Formats: sequence, C-alpha cells, structure tokens
Amino acid sequence: MDIFRAMAEHGHEQLIFNYDKASGLRMIIALHDTTLGPGLGGMRNWRYGSEDEAVADALRLSRGMTYKNSFAGIDFGGSKCVIYNDPDEKSDLLLRAAGRFVEMLGGRIYTGEDVGLTPDDVEALARTTRYLVGRPHKSGDPSKAAALGTYSSICASLRHVFGSAEPKDRHVAIQGAGNVGSDLARRLVADGAKVTICDLKPERAQAVADATGATVVPSDAIYDVACDVFSPCALGLILNPQTLPRLKAKIVCGSANNQLETPETAEQLRRMGILYAPDFIVNGGGIVNIADEFEDGGYQRERAFQRVAQIGERLLAVFRRAEAEGITTSAAAERIAEDRIAAIAQQQRYFVPQRP
Ligand code: NAD
Repeated sequence: MDIFRAMAEHGHEQLIFNYDKASGLRMIIALHDTTLGPGLGGMRNWRYGSEDEAVADALRLSRGMTYKNSFAGIDFGGSKCVIYNDPDEKSDLLLRAAGRFVEMLGGRIYTGEDVGLTPDDVEALARTTRYLVGRPHKSGDPSKAAALGTYSSICASLRHVFGSAEPKDRHVAIQGAGNVGSDLARRLVADGAKVTICDLKPERAQAVADATGATVVPSDAIYDVACDVFSPCALGLILNPQTLPRLKAKIVCGSANNQLETPETAEQLRRMGILYAPDFIVNGGGIVNIADEFEDGGYQRERAFQRVAQIGERLLAVFRRAEAEGITTSAAAERIAEDRIAAIAQQQRYFVPQRP
C-alpha cells in the first residue's frame, strides 16, 4: 500500500505503527481528524489477512469515527487502534504494551472496547494507560444507550414517512436478538408495535419472543417480512444486491455498523423509495453515552440518556437536508458532520493568548 497516498485520500493526520518486542504486539493507531478534540474510537483486535488489510481498516474506521463523533455533537475527533495479532495470542503482556502506546500519546486519543476485546481486556489496559472510556465504574456497557438511540431514530423515521412518530400498530422486523436488538424489541412492544425478530442463534430470538410476545422467523426470512421498518441489529454489509429486492419495508433503521455493502447502496435505497437512516447516526447512542464521562462531575446516566434520546431529532435534520439537496441520507449526514468540523475549525483561527 502507498501509505501517504492512502492518508492523503481522506486527509488522515497520523498513522502510528507500534511494535513491542516482548509480547509481539503489532498495533496501528490511526488518527483521522482532531479538529474537534482528541481522537475517540475503540481498540479492535482482528485476524487480518495481511498488514495492508489491517492498515486499511484502521484508516477506514478512524475516519468513520470522525463523522460519528462530529454528527453526535461531541467534542472528539476520529481515531482507531487496530491490533494486528491473532486474538488468540492476546496476553497480559501484549495488553500492557498496547496501553503504554496509548498512554505515550498523552491524551491525543481515548480508546475502549471494540471487536476482539473483552471488558477484562480493557481493565488490563488500564494498568498502563489512563486514556480509556466505557469502563464498568464509568459509563459501562453502551448497549442500552445504543438501543435507546435506535428506538429514537425509528420514531423519527416513522414521523418523517408516516407523519406520526408513534410506534403503536407499526410493524418492525429486527435482525439480531443480541444486546441491542432485544432491548429495542422490548421498547417497541411496550409502545404497542408489532415486532418480528430473528437471530442466527434461534434461542436468543425465542427468549425475546417469550418475554415480549414478538414473532420469531428464521434468520434468512427476515428480509421478506412485510413490515414498516426493517431494523438491522446484527452484522454489517447486509444491504446488498441480493437483499435489496427482497425488502418490503418503507424504512431501514437499525444499530448495526456498516450496513451498506457499497456507498452506492444508499442511492439504490433512495430510488426504491426506502428511507435509510444512516447507521452511524442511529447507533450514535453508544458514543454519546461515553462522552458523558467527560462532563463536569463525571458520568451521569440520566443526563446521558436524555441526550441519547435526542438522536431522532438530529436525524430529522438529515432527512430534510437530503430532500432539499436531492442527495442520499448518508451524503446529507456526512455534509452535516463536515459542516460542524469546518465551522469549529474556523473559530479556532481566533488568537487566544496563553499565560507566558
Ligand atoms: P450482540 O453480539 O449482542 O448481538 C448480535 C446478535 O446478532 C447475536 O445474537 C448474533 O447471534 C446475531 N446475528 C449475527 N449474524 C446474524 C444474522 N445474519 N442474522 C441474524 N442474527 C445474526 O451485538 P449488539 O451489542 O446487540 O450489537 C448489534 C449491532 O449494533 C452490531 O453491529 C454492533 O456493532 C452495533 N452497535 C452496537 C453498540 C453497542 O453498544 N452494543 C453500539 C454501536 C453499534
């Protein structure tokens, strides 16, 4: 890979290669844009096929965090830590080293749990770095906040399409009965919505059905459900040429990351008359919840959840801008995030005297 060309393509600030001889740690830290504040993004440990793949993922994910954080209205830039070791090789020593490399950036980035890292791993990192978020004694597990943000986004999408934000008597098909999907189902059923749910592990979907009265379908059948909202809450890349023709929903709004197989998929959904709520906005509840750790007095769940519940309002602005400019909702969301960064960068021109 031509690294500088790859960085120039989307304006990345820094790409840091960290190697620890004692543990064999190979960690890439990508900082995309820190106009708004320190980089904030998780630490991922994945079995990458090659170094190039790991670098490409770090660049892509850190850029995604810039947009997610800017759109969420928090004062953080975009960064990501990517560990390029087999997750089975993870050791105490390796995590210690990873923590030290984060620490030596002196607060230029904050990180936390992501794919391939457990809450215990994050506690292990805490022995060598202070720059961690989402620890159990602070904001903790973000999935309830992510579910609330998804719920708020579904209500806003209903309002935009049907004129009423009420989930009552609306039908929502949820893909994935994990932490987010199951909590979302509970909220929607409590509001009088009809919920259909599936999971690759059918017992998870069945547990939700037993608790809420939702209907269970086999995993692959979820795309064919005649419903108002299709809510992907499992894995990414599920909106693609195979699944799009099967969708019967008027709205796609779920928490899963990277739902679109390609950026063009957003345009295809637009042409099909399906309202797509961009995933990085819908699942922003997790990051809004975490950002509350930095408020005066530290994390307060009630205040954090109040902010998360406002995600729907922000989403409505995206829908309006997309319509006004004749662009996809994804493009509109990106423009709003970029406008915020540009406006704050503009204010940073003002000279502020420092004490000598
Ligand atoms: P989870 O691991 O608890 O649940 C995901 C569920 O999806 C699992 O039960 C899994 O068996 C199921 N699944 C996987 N592939 C499937 C398929 N093809 N069809 C049906 N079910 C399938 O994860 P989660 O915390 O509920 O998160 C759900 C999604 O939301 C993920 O994409 C995650 O990245 C994203 N997200 C989560 C959070 C959070 O705070 N938990 C925050 C932001 C984004």
